[in-house]
Amino acid sequence: MHGRSNVARIIMALLLVAGALPQQASAQQGAAGYAEFARQSGEPRIPNLTIEYLHPLGNPDDARHWKHIIAHQTEGPAGSARSLALQQSKTPTKRGVTIWVETDGTVFWSTAETAIPTHGDGANRNDNKYVDNSKTYHIVVRTNSLGVEFVGNFPDVSRPVTSAQMQAWLTLLPFLQERYRIPSEHIYAHNWIDFKDHRYCEGCELGLAARKLGYAPGRAADTVR
Ligand SMILES: [Zn+2]
Repeated sequence: MHGRSNVARIIMALLLVAGALPQQASAQQGAAGYAEFARQSGEPRIPNLTIEYLHPLGNPDDARHWKHIIAHQTEGPAGSARSLALQQSKTPTKRGVTIWVETDGTVFWSTAETAIPTHGDGANRNDNKYVDNSKTYHIVVRTNSLGVEFVGNFPDVSRPVTSAQMQAWLTLLPFLQERYRIPSEHIYAHNWIDFKDHRYCEGCELGLAARKLGYAPGRAADTVR
């Protein structure tokens, strides 16, 4: 089985080189390869991303509880992501999240993907100000939502994330979305699901960018049989 699929892959590569296959076939092959890559255990090297695993990944099937992704901002200083991630790795269920992003775009994966850190405020927002909260109210909570924290909006909470952080976010998302099969409409800014700080909109830029990216997981699996 394994040998045969390798042969198929080599033939496909030769046909592609020869220009014998339409471009769509090569895109599908690429997407299928990425889906496979995104489900690896250990410490997968995500292309174009600097990522440090403080805890290796396991089997994503053991982390099927992740149905949503929530973007947070720490209201803490630049340079604090690594130490916050380390604290989280030592006490996975403390107030915090699974993934922390430094202002230079470095990503720290802090805990086992099966651990459930304490984040969010119970999805208490119900005014439909940003999204349809009937789909989030008391629904998008820590037990089913993977949290990603961005540091650096201190002392001014309204300071936006850096372009390196935004780039890291948009590079990381397809990996997370593919790994846990999370569609773009299940990615939220913290401010969209909880009543938050009135001085700024926590995670909003990140949420909007994620929706705009519109990555659709599982497409490869659906089209390549
Ligand atoms: Zn938050």
